[in-house]
Amino acid sequence: MTLPPLPGSTDPLVLEITHAAVELHLAQRSRELDRTPAFPRAEYRELGRRRLLGLHTPIARGGRGVDLPGVGRALFHLGRVSGTAFAKLTLQPEFSSVLAEHGTPELVERFYRPMVRGELLVANQVTEPGAGSDAGALAMTARREGDSYRLDGSKSEAAFAVDADAAIVYARTGPAGSGAPGVSAFLVPQDLEGISRSMVGDLGERWMRRGRVEYGSVLVPVGHRIGEEGAAFGYLQAELVRERALLAAIYLGVARASWEETVAHVGERTAFGRPLSSQEAVGFPLVEDWARLDAAWEFVDRTLHRLARGEPVSAEASMSKWLATETALSAIDHAIQFHGGAGYSQALPHEQRWRDVRSGGIAHGTHEIMHLVAARSLWSKGR
Ligand SMILES: Cc1cc2nc3c(=O)[nH]c(=O)nc-3n(C[C@H](O)[C@H](O)[C@H](O)COP(=O)(O)OP(=O)(O)OC[C@H]3O[C@@H](n4cnc5c(N)ncnc54)[C@H](O)[C@@H]3O)c2cc1C
Repeated sequence: MTLPPLPGSTDPLVLEITHAAVELHLAQRSRELDRTPAFPRAEYRELGRRRLLGLHTPIARGGRGVDLPGVGRALFHLGRVSGTAFAKLTLQPEFSSVLAEHGTPELVERFYRPMVRGELLVANQVTEPGAGSDAGALAMTARREGDSYRLDGSKSEAAFAVDADAAIVYARTGPAGSGAPGVSAFLVPQDLEGISRSMVGDLGERWMRRGRVEYGSVLVPVGHRIGEEGAAFGYLQAELVRERALLAAIYLGVARASWEETVAHVGERTAFGRPLSSQEAVGFPLVEDWARLDAAWEFVDRTLHRLARGEPVSAEASMSKWLATETALSAIDHAIQFHGGAGYSQALPHEQRWRDVRSGGIAHGTHEIMHLVAARSLWSKGR
């Protein structure tokens, strides 16, 4: 068996992060967190202590300041050796870069830096029961009252609904119907009076304990507003482009693990007197997956390089997430299939990987919205 090379396998950061994954038993922990969902505080702290949270976060804000292609390669490998959970966890500061880039120095000091150290979990709350893809239709209000804003409304589908210490909450400061330009972001500690939280059970990514957060007349100091009034969606767009491309790298790493394990399995397992790999019905889909996973990686990696150079790649980042998710799901599905009965069982990791990666079609923008973003860009003037 001769496996194709892995991207960046001699990068010092890749070696460091995969070594940490082995030392901290992250693959095993990821499987435990699927069976018994919980936020992995101890590992979060340890990853922070090892400076493995906020890989892309500038050094001035406590991160590693690694360039995006380097982070993509590291996350590919972390996904490959431990699944989605801890690779996504290392991205948590990236998911909150609106706070780092537009929050006051005091907010950054109190909330962002401790997050990079793994001491505090900051979530993001955009989606509402009545507004998800159409985020401009958010109904939650933030009304200015002297030195405070009064928050009223419901957030739904939110990761870490019951675990977050604080959340970046998107709420309407402009009049109803003002769309995206009427939305502002606030840093809201989750223990404030008037907040109630509950969780739902999920298909995968269960450790995130997603759910609903209700705000009933919650007072937040003006200093907790992130950036200018009405500017929040503009801030979020830049963050989303980076996170979509980086998530794509994780999904491809996770699928690569299933693919490698399946290539090994069908080479060894005999049926009807010969190895499964010699049956074209089994071997051919696996060589197709090889080419598809590799091609998807090239697309994602090129997008990350262009993003690092400051090129406008919102469309490519959107299609990276779609392409990586679909390519990975198809490869993991083959892994389930060609391991037979064991592939469908919880004894092997493929079923969990499939469930976890499936979130890629919905979280951080659905597949359909990714297509809309790309189509708009393709037919816009001046691209
Ligand atoms: C694992 C996971 C983690 C998440 N974490 C968070 C989080 O931390 N914070 C947060 O705020 N949200 C989070 N979400 C929510 C996620 O961002 C939303 O579910 C997503 O944006 C879709 O919104 P919705 O659920 O309201 O679906 P809807 O917007 O109702 O969409 C339903 C379907 O209709 C399609 N659709 C909608 N509009 C169009 C259109 N114009 N054209 C074509 N198709 C369309 C969608 O693509 C989708 O297939 C998470 C979701 C998941 C699965």
